[in-house]
Amino acid sequence: MTELDDVTIGRPGDPHYEAATRVFNLAAPVHPAAAVTARSAGQVRAAVRHAAAAGLGVRMFTSGHGAGAARPMPEALLIRTELAGGIDVDSARLVARVPAGSRAGELVAATAKHGLTSAHGSSANVGLVNYLLGGGLSGYGRFAGLAVNGVVAVELVTADGESRRVDAGHDPELFWALRGGGGGFGVVTSVEIALFPAGQLFGGATYWAGELAEAVLSRWNAWTADAPREVTTGLRLLNLPAVPGVPPALAGRTTVCVDGLVRAGSAGETHRLADDLLRPLYALGEPLVDTWGELTAEGVLGIHMDPPEPVPFLGEHHLLSTLDADGEAELLRLLGPGSGSPFVGAGLRQLGGAFATAPAGAGVLGRLDAAYSFAASGVPDPSGPERLLGRCAKIRTALRPWRTGRTVPNFVEHFEQPQRHLDDDQVAAVDRVRRRVDPGGVFRGDIAPNATALS
Ligand SMILES: Cc1cc2nc3c(=O)[nH]c(=O)nc-3n(C[C@H](O)[C@H](O)[C@H](O)COP(=O)(O)OP(=O)(O)OC[C@H]3O[C@@H](n4cnc5c(N)ncnc54)[C@H](O)[C@@H]3O)c2cc1C
Repeated sequence: MTELDDVTIGRPGDPHYEAATRVFNLAAPVHPAAAVTARSAGQVRAAVRHAAAAGLGVRMFTSGHGAGAARPMPEALLIRTELAGGIDVDSARLVARVPAGSRAGELVAATAKHGLTSAHGSSANVGLVNYLLGGGLSGYGRFAGLAVNGVVAVELVTADGESRRVDAGHDPELFWALRGGGGGFGVVTSVEIALFPAGQLFGGATYWAGELAEAVLSRWNAWTADAPREVTTGLRLLNLPAVPGVPPALAGRTTVCVDGLVRAGSAGETHRLADDLLRPLYALGEPLVDTWGELTAEGVLGIHMDPPEPVPFLGEHHLLSTLDADGEAELLRLLGPGSGSPFVGAGLRQLGGAFATAPAGAGVLGRLDAAYSFAASGVPDPSGPERLLGRCAKIRTALRPWRTGRTVPNFVEHFEQPQRHLDDDQVAAVDRVRRRVDPGGVFRGDIAPNATALS
């Protein structure tokens, strides 16, 4: 351990190192040269200066949900950002200041007191920094757009060891690149994000036996073609294990699930919009479990039933264009009942609506030109990830006719998965910004390999 100003740099084997290298994805342990947990921007500055003096690169985590996408970091100091101070809500300006390390659940609780919410993700314990800067697909997404578009300011410590506040009026070029550029600019210490009234909410998830997967997929896919932007949904094929938290009716079998959120101005309107989606689906057969109903802003975090505790996982992700009947059949052949799918969950998040439009002043990743975000995720075998990686490669090949060739940084779960979320000109422009703010390449290891051509 090295005492440095008021920050303690941990080395492998000591408790500070163990605490700072914790990851949510247990299949992606990290082994940096040194690690530190920073509780203040001053500690981040001290740690970045220490790394520069020691000739180490710098890497950073908040929750480690995205650890699988992070490249190995043997020559780096890992800074875990758990900044103190709490979330500050300015209900008049409709903005929340979120210290790095805060989780979605904390943000939702802080804003709900004011009748407000934000374009947060499905899980309460995902860290907000990379969720936001990596795009951010929210249950409010077809109404609110990519969550990154709600970022109004970023505070970060750059390679010179100094803090900067970046927004539309202060280094707009860096502000543009930070929002979806794929990392490698500095250690973010706080983010300010736009809020909106929670409105009336209705949401949940319905699960049917796998035998109904073909009918449910077909009917849901048809509904998405001209769905209203007040509604954001997803369809998943699940092979849930019999573990605490999983309803017994869903465990040990293949099921198909449609989940979603409706946000509208009145309770009557939410009911009507939900009914248009659900009535034709209910007609297909009796659900095993059905949780749709009126929700509070905090209740939205329960829709997806994401795991609350760290788990091992690995998977594949792609953006897809509209699925025709062949696409539906291919998805079921790969992942449906009888497919032998090794994935715990696989499916489609509905895009379109506000996801398709970049607002004025958006960052480099402001919109998604795709109908669906596909993701499949499973638990690697104890002997290694090869079997699961093999299935991921098969999926990549089989879905080629429907892949747009793009991915979203947030959903990549393995750093070797081919990914591409920007075009060549954008990649070059973002790289120019990186070279300006980090000429020595201190943060180079943090950059998402987004220039890899997908094949
Ligand atoms: C159960 C589960 C549910 C999810 N649900 C959603 C969802 O609904 N929508 C969605 O879009 N995504 C979702 N995700 C994906 C999630 O957004 C990504 O895993 C994201 O990377 C998590 O952000 P984080 O800040 O916790 O990053 P971490 O996992 O802590 O770090 C990943 C990377 O983020 C960067 N980073 C982290 N902290 C900092 C910092 N302080 N400064 C600069 N860079 C930093 C680094 O590049 C780092 O390598 C989900 C993931 C899981 C496991």
